[in-house]
Amino acid sequence: MSEECNGKCNDCTKMDACTDSKKEQLEQDILKLRMSKIKHKIAIISGKGGVGKSTVTVNLAIAFALHNHANKVGILDADITGPSVPKILGLHGQRFQVGPPGIFPVPGPLGIKVVSMDFLLENDESPVIWRGPLKMGAIKQFLSDMLWGELDFLFIDLPPGTGDEPLSIMQLIPEMDGTVIVTLPSELSEIVVKKSVTFSRQLNVPLIGVIENMSGFICPKCGEKVNIFKTGGGQKIAKDLSVPFLGSIPIDTDICSDSDNGIPFITEHANSPATKALKEIVKKIEQFLGV
Ligand code: ADP
Repeated sequence: MSEECNGKCNDCTKMDACTDSKKEQLEQDILKLRMSKIKHKIAIISGKGGVGKSTVTVNLAIAFALHNHANKVGILDADITGPSVPKILGLHGQRFQVGPPGIFPVPGPLGIKVVSMDFLLENDESPVIWRGPLKMGAIKQFLSDMLWGELDFLFIDLPPGTGDEPLSIMQLIPEMDGTVIVTLPSELSEIVVKKSVTFSRQLNVPLIGVIENMSGFICPKCGEKVNIFKTGGGQKIAKDLSVPFLGSIPIDTDICSDSDNGIPFITEHANSPATKALKEIVKKIEQFLGV
């Protein structure tokens, strides 16, 4: 509303601008209200794609749900152009349910509430070729129009990189608890992680820590660990940058096949070294959050 507003909207030359600004304010208020019902919001970031960010997001969400938070965990798949969370959770092909109170996230295993662009795509071949503002509009709606309900944790699987898009998404979400960086144990990844650390620090979002994924391969026959990439890169960089190191998840061929088949890895392979590593990581995140 402009300063000289006399309340007579129909005669006002600034009516359009004023209406837009009121609408924007209302949208902001709704978004804040929805997010205020979620106790902890954690963004999973990676400097580049293909490091297992979505796989780790999904398995962390399941691990938290298993750890006394069933029906209280959500995942926002914020990768509009490359959504992969539904596929990993066996929800690919599902659609949002719309009811009188609004739009519901798609329920996954252990009652995990999932919101992803994938639930709106007509078919697998449809690429999303939206530009930035349209993508941001979709994310805003995912945050504010969805009936998330009361959650203990919301995991936000950000698009890879440290560019404009993940940055804008981070700025949309109020009171973010922190970021978790997923990386590979290679020197190239070390350089990229530094960017993710700076990204988080510049946004003043606490850094929960670094996870080194695909850290060695444990031979299923003899149990020996083979370091396919370098080893200890994640740990070293966490130390160099004074960031907590959350743990290393080994390469496990079951992670890959379970993800492809939409089977939750950590419930299916409860005693595998990768599951144990994920559960240790959950403890460290809980400690950070004081849960
Ligand atoms: P990102 O989200 O970083 O692009 P994804 O989570 O889509 O990466 O993972 C890329 C591929 O790597 C997928 O096929 C996934 O199943 C596989 N993958 C991820 N982590 C592991 C792991 N620890 N062991 C084996 N395969 C993995």
